[in-house]
Amino acid sequence: MTASRIWIKKPLAIFTANDVPAPGGLVIDDGVIVELLDVGQSPSAPVDSTFDAREHVVLPGLINTHHHFYQTLTRAWGPVVNQPLFPWLKTLYPVWARLTPERLELASKVALAELLLSGCTTAADHHYLFPDGLENAIDIQIEAVRELGMRAMLTRGSMSLGEADGGLPPQHTVQTAEAILEDSERLIARYHQRGDGAQIQIALAPCSPFSVTPEIMRASAALAEYHDVRLHTHLAETLDEEEFCKQRFGLRTVDYLDSVGWLSKRTWLAHGIHFNDDEIARLGKAGTGICHCPCSNMRLASGICPTLALEAAGAPIGLGVDGSASNDASNMMLEARQALFIQRLRYGAEQITPDRVLGWATRGSANLLGRTDVGELAIGKQADLALFKLDELRFSGSHDPIAALLLCGADRADRVMVGGRWRVIDGQIEGLDVAQLIANHSQAARDLIAG
Ligand SMILES: [Zn+2]
Repeated sequence: MTASRIWIKKPLAIFTANDVPAPGGLVIDDGVIVELLDVGQSPSAPVDSTFDAREHVVLPGLINTHHHFYQTLTRAWGPVVNQPLFPWLKTLYPVWARLTPERLELASKVALAELLLSGCTTAADHHYLFPDGLENAIDIQIEAVRELGMRAMLTRGSMSLGEADGGLPPQHTVQTAEAILEDSERLIARYHQRGDGAQIQIALAPCSPFSVTPEIMRASAALAEYHDVRLHTHLAETLDEEEFCKQRFGLRTVDYLDSVGWLSKRTWLAHGIHFNDDEIARLGKAGTGICHCPCSNMRLASGICPTLALEAAGAPIGLGVDGSASNDASNMMLEARQALFIQRLRYGAEQITPDRVLGWATRGSANLLGRTDVGELAIGKQADLALFKLDELRFSGSHDPIAALLLCGADRADRVMVGGRWRVIDGQIEGLDVAQLIANHSQAARDLIAG
């Protein structure tokens, strides 16, 4: 028997990510939101079950738009604890090259589980390592997503510019253009779902200006256009990267992006820190999305994303935790908290409100991924929800429940629903032995470092 019509009744507080309040809660039918209720209003038709949400703050499921799941195996690794991006990458590449299918499976499960427990229902990953034996990396990640019952945008990353040709990564970690494009086509054909309620989507994601050739950027853009999938890459993360682009291409980062056909609304960029006013205007006019990664940007001392200027220009803003070797957590609520704080340093307290930041983590992130069916609580949207309780010590004495989530540091959802299905109940993931996962993943992390 399936209880398909559910009333999430009278929450303590609810953030819909739009202008329609829902103090009476919401009604879900067959995984889709069918009613938002006002004060004192009851569902218009009988429900199969009622969830009393009087102790819960209800949010749309959070959406993470940039990550590298595999990096959970190299969190807080001594040699890179105090390094900025380029030396950090060069020290880590040879370690990452030892990734195997089993290690990637464990790493992906850990990242996804951590995200899910923080209230994340849709996760994007950027995977660009395909050493011998790991040709099916994205397939492995998709299995992990399915096991956890989340939604995901898996991006087929790539590296094609090795050290021998003036790039940053070691030669044995890069692939030929043929191999990259052939696998991209295969993944789109096999896995990419379209339309409302999609669980798995594929995007194309050459890694960064200093690890791919302009040719693979152009070919990926053409392929994405042909198959109508999205494009993702790192851009304007550090001044070292800007210098690289000037030296190698004679162009600043956005000029380079434009020159390879990527300045479009099909594209979302990770980081987007070092832009001048003209570049911000061009990105905004194109509608190119920017994934703000505050923890990683602070951790590597990369800089501060000009979110409000980009938004005012027309570029959508979303949030991402970035890979777990530069965060080193995968917690979307804590990421939103850091976004609130770092952006206040740039733009002041009055403009950077909890509602604005939660909007980035939900509706804004959905926009980056090209999704209109998730990211807010409204009629016709997917029933992807994150519910938080405020009964821990850290919330004691707090008053505004929505502000308390960010200001007091909520880090774990009590309940999470994806498409009408509870995936987290009482702070536990349904069907996952977390202790066993930690044991296996920790061993894999030690083995990876040991070589
Ligand atoms: Zn990244």
